[in-house]
Amino acid sequence: MCDPQIGMGGYDDDMVRFNLAVDKINRMQPDFVIVCGDLVHHAHDSAYDDFEEVINKLEVPYLLAPGNHDLGNIPSDSSLQAYRSRFGDDYFVSHYGEVSMVVINTQLIKENVKLASDLQMKWIASMLDSLAHTKQKVFVMGHYPLFIKEVNEEENYFNLPDNRRTTLLELFESSGVLAYLSGHKHELLTNEYAGIFLVSGETTSKNFDERPFGFRKWSVQKCRITHEFVPL
Ligand SMILES: [Zn+2]
Repeated sequence: MCDPQIGMGGYDDDMVRFNLAVDKINRMQPDFVIVCGDLVHHAHDSAYDDFEEVINKLEVPYLLAPGNHDLGNIPSDSSLQAYRSRFGDDYFVSHYGEVSMVVINTQLIKENVKLASDLQMKWIASMLDSLAHTKQKVFVMGHYPLFIKEVNEEENYFNLPDNRRTTLLELFESSGVLAYLSGHKHELLTNEYAGIFLVSGETTSKNFDERPFGFRKWSVQKCRITHEFVPL
C-alpha cells in the first residue's frame, strides 16, 4: 500500500478508502502487508489514532515505513522520537518464510541527518550483505522512489539524491535484492535496474496520474515474482 496519507485527498474520503482497502485485504488474506510511508497528511496524534484504528483491523501482519509527512521533510530528533515511540523502529528487517523485507527510512537518505543518516546507511549495507549469504528472497521498501524516469536524473522533490541513489542501487545489485517498493510519487512507477523491480504504486488518498485508487498484490514464487493492481 502507498500513501494512505489520511487528510490529503479529503479526510473522511481517505478514511473510507483506507477502510475499504483493509477490508479487501482481509478477504484476500495475504501473508503480510507493507505500507510505504506517508501514513497521514499532518502528523498529529488524532490522525495517527484514526490511522491505527483502521490498520489494526488487518487480520495479517503489517510493516510500516515512515514518509516525509510522518517525519517532516527534514527529520528532527523529536519527529524521529515521536514516530519511534508510536510505531517502533523506522528501519528494520522482517522475515516471512523465504522472503526478507528490509524496511528503510528514506527521509534519512533524502536529507543528511547528523549521525542518524550514517548509522542507517551502515545498517543497510551490513544487513543486505548478511542476507546475501542466505537463501532468502530479499525485498527493500521505503517511501521515496530512488528515481522517477532515469537512473541518472537530477535530484528533485520526488526522488533521492543521485550520489546516495547510486550507492543504494550498487548495494541492491551486489546483494541480490529482487525489488524495491516505494510510494511518495502518487503515480504508478514501474522501473527496473539490473533486473531489480523498482515500483511505486497507486494510493488510497490521491493519484496524480488519475489511476484508480487501490493497492498492489505481490506474488513471490520459486522463480517468478509478479505484481498486479487491486482496485478498491
Ligand atoms: Zn511523501
